[in-house]
Amino acid sequence: MLELLVISGPSGVGKGTIINRLISSHPTLSLAVSATTRQPRTGEVDGTHYYFMNDDEFDHAIQNELFIEWAPVHQYRYGTLRREVLRIQNSGKLPLLEIDTDGAMQVKKNFPNATLLFIEPPSLQSLIDRLYQRGTETDDQISRRVQVAQIELSRKAYYNFVVVNDIVENAVTSVLEIIEQLQQSSSSHLTTGD
Ligand code: 5GP
Repeated sequence: MLELLVISGPSGVGKGTIINRLISSHPTLSLAVSATTRQPRTGEVDGTHYYFMNDDEFDHAIQNELFIEWAPVHQYRYGTLRREVLRIQNSGKLPLLEIDTDGAMQVKKNFPNATLLFIEPPSLQSLIDRLYQRGTETDDQISRRVQVAQIELSRKAYYNFVVVNDIVENAVTSVLEIIEQLQQSSSSHLTTGD
């Protein structure tokens, strides 16, 4: 049964654009709002983009097992709140988790029915070019992100599906086809009692 959809991919691969399009074209998908210890960026709203927590609040949430997964990413900590996933599932929707590969491996272990999807750049060089074009990071930050990207790319074999983001429309179509297929097969399992 399709109970959770995880999407990962290296920084700069275009996950954000793909996810925004998925959410607007697929009414049963709902993005789970993560918690993070990083500061809000301009325009980010607490509870909409992230639940912003200080270190003590994050520690408290870990101790009380409020996360289904959490991981350090680029100097900060990020985690998926169990109550956020339950809220989406109870509303009859499919929770979409946009999380890093460490977090995805924890979800894979603890939720065997979760579907993991990895968004891959056409090449490492295209990712580097995109990070430079974006212009939001310094050269040092870009080289760190490229190192992390190489680690993330080496984990794609653990995902159920890998979609290459060469042309964004094609990538969105591929992901939508995957979701439809999974939803059809879970409803046929329900009706056949598999
Ligand atoms: P940003 O700080 O740019 O919003 O997010 C950086 C990265 O943190 C994202 O690309 C995503 O992979 C990761 N991330 C966001 N939320 C979560 C989460 O709840 N858990 C984990 N493990 N990673 C997350």
